[in-house]
Amino acid sequence: MTPSFILVACLSLLILRWLGQGLLDLLNRRHVRAHGDHAPEAVQGIMDGPTYRRSVEYTLAKSHFGQVEELWSLATKIVFLCSGFLPWTLALWSDRFGQGAFAQSGWLLAVSFMMGLPDLPLEWWSQFRLEERFGFNKSTLRTWITDHLKMLVLSTLLGLPLVTGILRLTVWIGESWWLWAWALLMAFQAVMMILAPILILPWFNKFTPLPDGSLRDRLLRLGERTGFTAKTIQIADGSRRSAHSNAYFTGFGRFRKIVLYDTLVAQLTEVELEAVLAHEIGHYRRGHVPKMLLWAGVSSLVSFGLLGWLARQPEFLEAFGFKSSSGLAPVLLLAGLLGGAITFWLTPLGTRRSRRHEFEADAYARGAMGESDSLIGALRKLHEKNLSNLTPHPWFSGFYYSHPTLLERERALRAASGAHAPTG
Ligand SMILES: [Zn+2]
Repeated sequence: MTPSFILVACLSLLILRWLGQGLLDLLNRRHVRAHGDHAPEAVQGIMDGPTYRRSVEYTLAKSHFGQVEELWSLATKIVFLCSGFLPWTLALWSDRFGQGAFAQSGWLLAVSFMMGLPDLPLEWWSQFRLEERFGFNKSTLRTWITDHLKMLVLSTLLGLPLVTGILRLTVWIGESWWLWAWALLMAFQAVMMILAPILILPWFNKFTPLPDGSLRDRLLRLGERTGFTAKTIQIADGSRRSAHSNAYFTGFGRFRKIVLYDTLVAQLTEVELEAVLAHEIGHYRRGHVPKMLLWAGVSSLVSFGLLGWLARQPEFLEAFGFKSSSGLAPVLLLAGLLGGAITFWLTPLGTRRSRRHEFEADAYARGAMGESDSLIGALRKLHEKNLSNLTPHPWFSGFYYSHPTLLERERALRAASGAHAPTG
């Protein structure tokens, strides 16, 4: 394959993904608009008329904004890839700092940071215009800027040693470096799973233990009943940034921690919160975490195998203006820029599995609660408060949604309870 063929093929892949995204967005907007004035009968009991229309507006506004973002991302990628900017920075950097693994990984991080800059205005707009307009933004410009600076510090502190390690492996091990690099990444992720909740998350949110009282007693009883022991139940101040709500658990074994967003606690009743936690416990009891880790491990092994192959193709680097002797750092950078154009088409594989897990966790919660009304009540409220799209196009939700739609979840919960959908 000649370098120019590779360049054209890679650009075509980027454009194809952009077209795919655009088509799905378009289908979804038409579907949502078609139901915009008249909510389908099935969703009428879930939101009142004005809230439903607002959810339609929010969905359309996000979709329009998403299209601008996708076009912008495509355009900036093409400019970075074709302008000769990237090889130019590498030459400058190498002259100044040399070609050692540490220097090269410094270049990789610096240039990745630089390539993220054009996205900042759009991120700002999303938070302070779009989310603001629908009442979801609770962040200040100060928090937003500090968050970005913290992320920059974190990615440097974590990324620099990791990438340096991977680049060193190519020198130490030779051709099979990618297998060891994969093992290194896995070990790194395992350590991060333990350290992140202790060291990193508290840097972004304040966590306070759930105070004594009926809610805490109720949740602890649920934990005992389901054999899910956590060290603590904590409340995160999610309301500092956004009115969107969430619940999750982090860590494993002795380090397990249940986290509820303060926004969630404010929105739901105690029994609904219990049902949400029962759902989270369902993920744990059904072994979804190890399954996800296994899946992520296998797919990153495949990616590293491909990287190992790519690094042996001198034409790949030449296609983007690099010298074929530039080493692994530019290969990693290019793979990061282009990989998404291929993995995009695999999105439905991941989301389908995730949706299956959500159904299983719902079913577990129903069993643990002995009824499904409280979970349905919680889901309805969350969809209402988050102005979630109740009528996505089936292709759109099938492709992107990590959770089944509200109607699908209600249907599954009620079918298993043997109850009929209420009319009101
Ligand atoms: Zn879930």
